[in-house]
Amino acid sequence: MKETKEFKTETKKLLDMMINSIYTHKEIFLRELISNASDAIDKRHYLSLTDENIKNDDYEIRVEASKATNTITITDNGIGMTKEEIEANLGTIAKSGSKEFLEKLEEAKKQSDDLSIIGQFGVGFYSAFMVAKRVTVLTKSVKSDKAYLFESDGLDSYEVSDAEYDNFGSKITLYLKDDTEDDKYSNYLDEYEIKDLVKKYSDYVRYPIKTWVTKTDPLTDEERKEGKTPQTHQELETINSMKPLWKKDKKDLTDEELNNFYKSKFMDYQDPLTSIMINVEGMITYRSLLFIPRKPMFDFYNDKNEKGLALYTKGVFILEKCKELIPDYLRFVKGLVDSEDLPLNISREMLQEDRAIKKIASNIEKKILSELESMLKNDRDKYLEFFKDYGTNLKYGLYENYGEKKDKLKDLILLRSFNDDKLITFNEYVSNMKEGQKDIYYAIAHDKASADKLPQMDLIKAKGYDALILSDDVDEFMIQILKKYNDHEFKSINKDDLNLISEEESKEIDKKQEDNKELLDEIKKVLTDAKDVKLSKRLVDAPCCVSTDGEITFEMERVLKQQNHDIKAERVFELNPNHPMFEKIKDAFKNDKELAKKYVNVLYAEALLQEGILPNDIMQFNKDITELLLK
Ligand code: ADP
Repeated sequence: MKETKEFKTETKKLLDMMINSIYTHKEIFLRELISNASDAIDKRHYLSLTDENIKNDDYEIRVEASKATNTITITDNGIGMTKEEIEANLGTIAKSGSKEFLEKLEEAKKQSDDLSIIGQFGVGFYSAFMVAKRVTVLTKSVKSDKAYLFESDGLDSYEVSDAEYDNFGSKITLYLKDDTEDDKYSNYLDEYEIKDLVKKYSDYVRYPIKTWVTKTDPLTDEERKEGKTPQTHQELETINSMKPLWKKDKKDLTDEELNNFYKSKFMDYQDPLTSIMINVEGMITYRSLLFIPRKPMFDFYNDKNEKGLALYTKGVFILEKCKELIPDYLRFVKGLVDSEDLPLNISREMLQEDRAIKKIASNIEKKILSELESMLKNDRDKYLEFFKDYGTNLKYGLYENYGEKKDKLKDLILLRSFNDDKLITFNEYVSNMKEGQKDIYYAIAHDKASADKLPQMDLIKAKGYDALILSDDVDEFMIQILKKYNDHEFKSINKDDLNLISEEESKEIDKKQEDNKELLDEIKKVLTDAKDVKLSKRLVDAPCCVSTDGEITFEMERVLKQQNHDIKAERVFELNPNHPMFEKIKDAFKNDKELAKKYVNVLYAEALLQEGILPNDIMQFNKDITELLLK
């Protein structure tokens, strides 16, 4: 029986891109198909350990080329597929990120002809259509005794029919496209090409990858004398070294091997920023390979993107993403763990409670942090590259769980220095403090230029102090959790008592505050949403500013608003007693109350604008300004 089925629209789009691909690395199709074959064997082997009805086998993957039929076949004796599985796995794009994948791919196609981005996605099976005009899959599942044949030209539909197959597993046949000027597909039929590609991309695959190679029979002396030409014969040869990369010793591994492994396993087209090898023997024995992608992977910002490391036990694949192995804030780390101490039949529920897993996870976290520390110390540029993409994650890590990890993370945080306009650590800030400076000052601003315009910066600048510029949403939350760095308190130039003026000056202002109590009360009556009105100790040139009282700051108000929380910072209107404007207001309250109110309202609105907050009543604000300009 033969059934014809339409591909889903999404799948069609993807296939269309594969078929018409001008991607220059079409050769990755072989890596993809071998990787599927290896996964299929992993799955069969895993089942055979837990299900007595399923037998294991002498596992192998075969790559065979035929010049006569212009085909390449990839055969595995893995788990195989049932009819339903063929439809679910090959008829649709099963992966959750597929939609974004398509969008990204279309976007990339618009921008450039070289779709190097393809390599970043698990295009998997469909990559066959980059080189083949027709693909067939003959397969029999270990869970059934029926074999099926999937056939497709990758255009609109595929066919599934009943078939005969003696073995369990899958045999994928690619009918290669005809050669063109640019693409010599027939090269893939070359035995050296196949060997090269397997070595390059799939050397670490744990099952033998075999192909037929031509061997020359040596001539005897006599035959040579007679001038005979040597005969050749075909021999099946295992091409890959098979040893999982992580089982090798560090000294036997080249960077290139590690990078190639990373790229093929995690579908990235760039080398990782850094790779970490861990080999622990003792109470718990495990090996781990960890990678930090050079750029966050395409699905990194997607909610559905699950964190986790691949888990193997005693070399047997258990699961793709074990989330218990990595904390949330390090979710960008890719990698795997292979342990000797976990049972093969470990279930997802057991993982959460497993003590070995917990121990491994905490070790891994430590290793990653110490790798980052040494990167920061020894290769600043690389760390800056890292921090640009992942710094926010570390900041969240510090903030999460009431700052549980703040001591581990605080020295990995970078913030912009106002004076130097570059990223520095807290420690660097403290080492550069001026004599007599005790606190760490910070300003909330997008960048140096906007911090420079804040009236509250004047005094800091006058003193020659530095300030950290907080520009990330999480920054201020993080600082509040930290409270102090070593013995140095954090002080917000926008809100905290900065103690930057002399005691005398401070007393003088306190006295003025007393003397002008009535005036300040009147101003407060005008400003219904200000919690307090006072004379400022932080201003030099500006007439006024608003600061906040309490935990919530303007920045937090803004961040919380984005999350739909209507929580307001408590506003304090501060006037500069040494500014001529102060006298002007004072006079106005004596002589023309209406005018005085306008002054106050406009100044307050200006001060709020300075903090990036729109006045409550913009119409009134505009009217007031026009009126004052006309005077
Ligand atoms: P991925 O391997 O990334 O999941 P693919 O498109 O390559 O995506 O494959 C889709 C699915 O088809 C696989 O997840 C697997 O279930 C199934 N599959 C592919 N190749 C084989 C194979 N050789 N044997 C058994 N199942 C396979």
